[in-house]
Amino acid sequence: MPLQPETIAIHAGNEHVAGEHPVIQPITLSTTFRHEEGALLYGRTDNPNRRALEKVMAQLEAGLEAACFSSGNAAGMAVFQALPPGSHVLAPDDMYHGLRLQLKNLFAGILEVDFVDMCDLEALRSAFRPETALVWVETPSNPLLKISDIRAISQLCQAKKVALACDNTFASPLVQQPLLLGADLVLHSSTKYIGGHSDLTGGVLITAEKSPLWEKIRSIQQIGGAVPAPFDCYFLARSVKTLPYRMRAHAENALCIARFLEATPSITAVYYPGLPSHPQHELAATQMRSFGGMMSLLFEGDASDTDAFIARLQLFTNATSLGGVESLIERRAAVEGPDTKTPENLIRLSVGLEHPEDLMNDLAQAINHCKNK
Ligand SMILES: *Cc1c(COP(=O)(O)O)cnc(C)c1O
Repeated sequence: MPLQPETIAIHAGNEHVAGEHPVIQPITLSTTFRHEEGALLYGRTDNPNRRALEKVMAQLEAGLEAACFSSGNAAGMAVFQALPPGSHVLAPDDMYHGLRLQLKNLFAGILEVDFVDMCDLEALRSAFRPETALVWVETPSNPLLKISDIRAISQLCQAKKVALACDNTFASPLVQQPLLLGADLVLHSSTKYIGGHSDLTGGVLITAEKSPLWEKIRSIQQIGGAVPAPFDCYFLARSVKTLPYRMRAHAENALCIARFLEATPSITAVYYPGLPSHPQHELAATQMRSFGGMMSLLFEGDASDTDAFIARLQLFTNATSLGGVESLIERRAAVEGPDTKTPENLIRLSVGLEHPEDLMNDLAQAINHCKNK
């Protein structure tokens, strides 16, 4: 019988070691291993804690293998580095800005890139070229929580024999499993939900099969060397054990808060795929198991009104990033810089695991304070 994700999360990343038989896999700090049959060789190329983390992540995403990196960006970069020079890449017009900067700046002159609206299948279809080697999707997207149809895009990619990668960071494998919907590769910034406690940086790629592209990615991991430390792998494998239950509560809390905000007059829009008012709610329901913990909203007023509202909150910390147990909030345009297309009054929320009533009370008191001024 195949195991359920709650069980995989607890057991698959906990390799049993001989000797004193600890129940929890110890951290192996050694960078080298005695030359013996079956032993590992060297810490950059392999490590028992990294192996354990890769095993549990591959199983949670229903993939064949995983490769862990020192950050989400390093994981994404390994995919771009694995493409033959001159390859054409199709990426979302609202791609995570760190990865967009890689494609635009670091890979300028090496890869050709077009940024397209991944919600517009016709636009995507007509953007393919003979040299297209990779389609990259990110769903739900940042900061408007747009949904791309992974099944439909994977059919387009299969017909053209082009690899499809999905940045699944906002969803987590508990909410969405892109490999089962036809993607070839999945990326997570494990800095976010996988780590879940805002205290470590990491990234992971998961593959559906051992393709030549994957072999190249594996050698970029091992020879390029942007690998996570054993400590980080240990803490990630530990965090993964509670990921299924954390994701349930993130999604439950987020749905409560989205409904509350949608009924609040000073909030002019709420972008959350779990709300029937979200333009792609039905599509989201066909490919996501729940709707995750991320949402954005428009606050009535300008940038300084929006900042005043955020400053008044007590439980939501004004900080970037997402996926931790504590709720975070930020005005995205302030983070994205002057050339952003994000509205100045758009606020992004990472809903944490505090009690939802406390979170709603905090939002309500800040809204009332701003109204009475
Ligand atoms: C944070 C993030 C990344 C990059 O991950 P780092 O760990 O910060 O390098 C990539 N994609 C998405 C959607 C992210 O939120």
